[in-house]
Amino acid sequence: KLPLVAIVGRPNVGKSTLFNRLLGKRDAIVDDVSGVTRDRNYGESDWSGKKFRLIDTGGYVPESSDLFESAIREQVETAIDEADSIIFLLDFKAGLNPIDKIIANMLRQSGKKYFVVINKVDNEIQKQALSEFYEIGVDKIYNISALSGRQLGDLLDDITSDF
Ligand code: GDP
Ligand code: MG
Repeated sequence: KLPLVAIVGRPNVGKSTLFNRLLGKRDAIVDDVSGVTRDRNYGESDWSGKKFRLIDTGGYVPESSDLFESAIREQVETAIDEADSIIFLLDFKAGLNPIDKIIANMLRQSGKKYFVVINKVDNEIQKQALSEFYEIGVDKIYNISALSGRQLGDLLDDITSDF
């Protein structure tokens, strides 16, 4: 079975955008029952001949704040249970959010391999601009633009290095 990489993070950080870019195609699944086109959340990817499965854990997260946190926790727990490796996506434009710290703690305690990735860095930046994100306590932080594909190569090299 191919290694499974899960993308986790708050709503709107760019999980689906990254997922679609890594799949290299935007084929949506059409729900047979309702005829509604939904985002596809599962697929296979290939990086320089290294194949892996990819899951976007996004899906529906309720607006209400108490349900919001438990829904996020559930998604991260699912990723920890099922994935071999996790992409933890954060939003450069929105900055660090309390929920991000909760996710970071869950991932740290899980012992699972994970990559902290700041999305929406659309232009080259000074490393200093990322300093607030180091608060979550991790050695290496990647910065990418899922929209343009900026800096995705280095991240993929590292994610697939032991696949
Ligand atoms: P999700 O809720 O985590 O799946 O986030 P989406 O993939 O739906 O993206 C949320 C919004 O952020 C959309 O309007 C995207 O176009 C935008 N977005 C995603 N990636 C980037 C990026 O790299 N740069 C910028 N500027 N916007 C992005
Ligand atoms: Mg999404």
